[in-house]
Amino acid sequence: MKSTLRIDERLKKDPNYHIFEERVHQVYEDFCHLYGNTIMSMYTILVGNQHDNFHPRPTIGVRNGLDGKYLVIKLSIYDFIHDCSVAVQMAHELTHYVIYTVMGLDKEKADFEEESLCTAMSLMFVKRYNPEFYEFHVDFIKRKYGEKHPYYNGIYVAEEFLYDIPKLAKEIFITYTLKKYREENNSVKRSQM
Ligand SMILES: [Zn+2]
Repeated sequence: MKSTLRIDERLKKDPNYHIFEERVHQVYEDFCHLYGNTIMSMYTILVGNQHDNFHPRPTIGVRNGLDGKYLVIKLSIYDFIHDCSVAVQMAHELTHYVIYTVMGLDKEKADFEEESLCTAMSLMFVKRYNPEFYEFHVDFIKRKYGEKHPYYNGIYVAEEFLYDIPKLAKEIFITYTLKKYREENNSVKRSQM
């Protein structure tokens, strides 16, 4: 099946682009194994990068294209040599992507639970690819965000799932499928009143 993931052509100018490209595709391939090609190719994903004071964090958002809606992931990588950061950010944003495919592109803004799950997944990817940087990433989150922050909570979620990526992936899919089902049932009930 044709991959629907594309990387912003302008990033090719970077001398370390190949490192960035390889890691972006690697994480995407992992998600294809976890969730299947049908889900992972439901919407086109365009990956860009922007690292400055105005864009300190990676994001995902819906855009309108000529062939319909697509998703833009904007990573925030300072230097493409840091392939571990690419994996962390991609895994986080692709988890949001999966939730979009279940809940719909008009889903509500990510809440505490969603951000925690995305962070847990991203930390598990560090464990998988760069276990030597795991503590560094955990310390970074702890220093930068308070205990009540969803990213901080993600550390506990990753521990609770014993860093088992397929198990967490399944949990995320089931949680949001149920949420969607309940949402639809509620709106059917309301419209029948
Ligand atoms: Zn997020």
